[in-house]
Amino acid sequence: MKLLEERINTDGNVLNENVLKVDSFLNHQIDPQLMNEIGKEFSRLFQKDSITKIVTIESSGIAPAVMTGLHMNVPVVFARKRKSATLIDDLLTAKVHSFTKNETHDLSISKQYITENDRVLIIDDFLANGQASLALVKMAEQANAVVTGIGIVIEKSFQPGADLLKQEGYRVESLARISSLSNGEVKFLNQEAEELIK
Ligand code: 5GP
Repeated sequence: MKLLEERINTDGNVLNENVLKVDSFLNHQIDPQLMNEIGKEFSRLFQKDSITKIVTIESSGIAPAVMTGLHMNVPVVFARKRKSATLIDDLLTAKVHSFTKNETHDLSISKQYITENDRVLIIDDFLANGQASLALVKMAEQANAVVTGIGIVIEKSFQPGADLLKQEGYRVESLARISSLSNGEVKFLNQEAEELIK
């Protein structure tokens, strides 16, 4: 998605060769216009899949997920990372370890909101090692729902997550695919291909 790549080029901050910071439009301040375009694009990509529910993880997945839900006209559920006083039993659960933040969370979603009748689209902001997406897949499958695909805003293709999810048989659609963050510079997969052709 060209608009997203341009935005990453102008506003993204390469923290190190593994981590990209996009706090000005996705992870802290949020650009609603860009989120709207992202939602429209995910909706277009997965329109034939008869999706009944979008599932994401708090907090950074919520903005792109809600916009996708708006365009697909389906509800959005987010997995909570912390135990909630009102969310006590009848839970779908999974553990997720974030290598970026070096934290482990016990995720939970109420069984009320994902059922065996659901066809689920998983949405997240970043794909790195694939642990967050896999945890969401596990929770949807605990409910016997069908996972029809995974939509990612920014995929770091040089990390193993995308291959792992595809090997497990899931369709992964990423709107920006980064091939490298070396030397403080963002390189996109398609850009690498263009340079090879030159
Ligand atoms: P994974 O589970 O695929 O290793 O990592 C995905 C999660 O880690 C995302 O939900 C995202 O919050 C966080 N994450 C991974 N890599 C990055 C990154 O380069 N930048 C930011 N801002 N978040 C990341």
